[in-house]
Amino acid sequence: MTRAQADVNLDAIAHNVMRLRAAAPDARMLAVVKADGYGHGMVPVARAARGAGADYLGVALPEEAVAVREAGDNGPLLCWLYPPSADLSELVERRVEISVSSPDALQQVVAAARKGDRRARIHLKIDTGLGRNGSTPDAWSDLVARALAHQDAGVLEVAGVWSHLAGSDEPESPVTGRQVVAFREALSDAESQGLVPEVRHLANSGGVLHHPDTHFDMVRCGISVYGLTPGPAIGTSRGLGLIPAMTVTAEVALVKRVPGGHGVSYGHRYRTRRSTQLALIPVGYADGVPRSGSSRLPVMINGQRFSVAGTVAMDQVVVDVGDARVRAGDRVHLFGPGSRGEPTADEWAAACATINYEIVTRLGPRIPRRHLGGG
Ligand SMILES: *Cc1c(COP(=O)(O)O)cnc(C)c1O
Repeated sequence: MTRAQADVNLDAIAHNVMRLRAAAPDARMLAVVKADGYGHGMVPVARAARGAGADYLGVALPEEAVAVREAGDNGPLLCWLYPPSADLSELVERRVEISVSSPDALQQVVAAARKGDRRARIHLKIDTGLGRNGSTPDAWSDLVARALAHQDAGVLEVAGVWSHLAGSDEPESPVTGRQVVAFREALSDAESQGLVPEVRHLANSGGVLHHPDTHFDMVRCGISVYGLTPGPAIGTSRGLGLIPAMTVTAEVALVKRVPGGHGVSYGHRYRTRRSTQLALIPVGYADGVPRSGSSRLPVMINGQRFSVAGTVAMDQVVVDVGDARVRAGDRVHLFGPGSRGEPTADEWAAACATINYEIVTRLGPRIPRRHLGGG
């Protein structure tokens, strides 16, 4: 027994990777393991995803890419977010493929390749409407031309052309269709200049599961690898054939009886209505239990559902368990796949007016991850 822990089911990760491969059977599959594998533990998730057939892994940051390589993974790996101060030579040296959105970033990669005398592999990124990273359509032709000049000089190889969707979690959004059109335009421009990329990729989880016209040569799956839906409008985990991989539990630290009218936690935002028992759960916002879930978050103790009573504190929350048989040392389910009746990350997200991505990703370092399965 531990104060709190997150069990991560690597067999669920493997199942989800296979399910997602089947959803885009003609495309390669990239499993996104950034942000410590969406809070699930990057290295074990990376291994499980590769084992289940992920062709590529994807990370945001250079240090994440290095950590994947340090763990012994040498397969195709794409890294897409770095500031001008980043020295990319270690990535080139370790054969990490690098996203390029601008002439400056191109120069940064070229400098890294020259430094190590090794050919870089890059993916040129076009902004098809997200308004975040990527070249504007106006600057695209020039970026392609510059990249091709460096390719001809043998400094680098343009392996991919890619973009990212703004609203694939909304089935009815007209934005996705417009982005597909813009992506095709960028591709034909690149092709007219003689660029024949090995992989063209646009889809994230919402695209993979709901918009087949976004699949192209590769799909990038993040939240769905962890068994969670990219958005309630796309479906539930179960409806999509996904298995949530994470179960978070804690140990009841204290149970005590208090009279009616007793204020509970900071600000007394909860007050007992009659004589009742309060159970103290030793996890709080420092552990990733959102404070916005005060008086709302569901938990399960001994098969019964309760809500957090009052304000979520840094290290603890309180649950009014009435007259239920609850003792110190009992196990509390915070969230999990829901198969035993416990709340899900989706329910937590709804209770906090956020998305399931934030619930799992912000789970704090004080909660040890225990990886199960994956043999
Ligand atoms: C995080 C990320 C993804 C994964 O998105 P999901 O919605 O979690 O599938 C894909 N592509 C890029 C560029 C990302 O930053």
